[in-house]
Amino acid sequence: MTHQVVLIPGDGIGPEVTAAVRRILAAAGAPVEWVEHRAGLAALEHDRDVLPRGTLEAIGRYQVALKGPCTTPIGEGFTSINVRLRKELDLYAAVRPVRNLDGVPTRFQGVDVVIVRENTEGLYSGIEAELAPGVVTTTKVATEKACTRIARWAFRYASQRGRKQVTVFHKANIMKLTDGMFMRCARAVHGREFAEIGYQEMIIDAGCMALVQDPTRFDVLLLENLYGDVLSDLAAGLVGGLGVVPGANIGDHGAVFEAVHGSAPDIAGRNLANPLALLMSGVMMLNHLAETRADEASAAAAQRIKDAYNRALARGEKTRDLGGTLGTAEFAEAVVAQLTA
Ligand code: NAD
Repeated sequence: MTHQVVLIPGDGIGPEVTAAVRRILAAAGAPVEWVEHRAGLAALEHDRDVLPRGTLEAIGRYQVALKGPCTTPIGEGFTSINVRLRKELDLYAAVRPVRNLDGVPTRFQGVDVVIVRENTEGLYSGIEAELAPGVVTTTKVATEKACTRIARWAFRYASQRGRKQVTVFHKANIMKLTDGMFMRCARAVHGREFAEIGYQEMIIDAGCMALVQDPTRFDVLLLENLYGDVLSDLAAGLVGGLGVVPGANIGDHGAVFEAVHGSAPDIAGRNLANPLALLMSGVMMLNHLAETRADEASAAAAQRIKDAYNRALARGEKTRDLGGTLGTAEFAEAVVAQLTA
């Protein structure tokens, strides 16, 4: 079984890190055939749109994509590519596993948190108004439908992976209707369908303090859109930063895997970028293919790659952002060497 997967190289360091990931997946025998499409500045030049219809249709057709970071042009009229992708393909669950890595020393050890963020509403609904000169508002949206489906997604994820606890961070003491709805839906899904999994609720300010005091207390974190956005970067900081954290945006009819970092124009084209976060996103993608298409070859390739990059990091083979000396391509070769070690 070979899976056709849309590959978006992206902008800035995107082409370098996607090339490194392609090299490693091919060497690991991952059963993937890439179908390349453009997004970002690269697409604007060729297609006059940062997210061309053809790219969206291809993701709709093949249902899985690996995306390099894209530059959102500054100026009026350009909405973020990621926000558009999520909306157009209804990728309602943003998932970000945050774990310590061998060879990347940080203040905490034993961190293993998965952040599940509602991706479609909250304060990101784009409903803003100027009520009067000098007075503007943004509307926070919460629907029972979206709150319930993200809660069900988080509990199902926890259940399938043998995770023990889901924690909702909220501010329902102040936003009684919106955060109240988010919390009540999570509570209902837990009680009705997943009572065997631990469940707790924390007011987000106290939760943030607890998270930075002892992140090992947490397992799966379930958050509405804005809290999830902020908390996922905070959590990345606990394990070494954005360069070591993968991500996925998942819906019922498609999934886009990508690193959390941006296109890093300051180091683009210089073989300095760390491809690890995109590689880890590629591993998530292979596990997703394994689960949704019952394909053991994808699961085996994912495990081989994970073992290989862990061994490389433990040997001190790292890019400069992690205190090492390797370039993008050299790090890719170090991982490839560990695939057969
Ligand atoms: P950035 O993540 O691109 O860069 C921040 C800093 O981290 C820079 O110093 C950069 O050199 C460094 N860095 C980032 N990724 C790295 C890597 N893999 N290896 C080594 N160092 C790395 O954030 P920014 O500068 O705020 O954004 C630059 C552009 O990226 C903007 O146009 C923004 O819109 C876009 N962006 C895209 C995505 C995405 O497509 N998913 C996400 C965030 C930002």
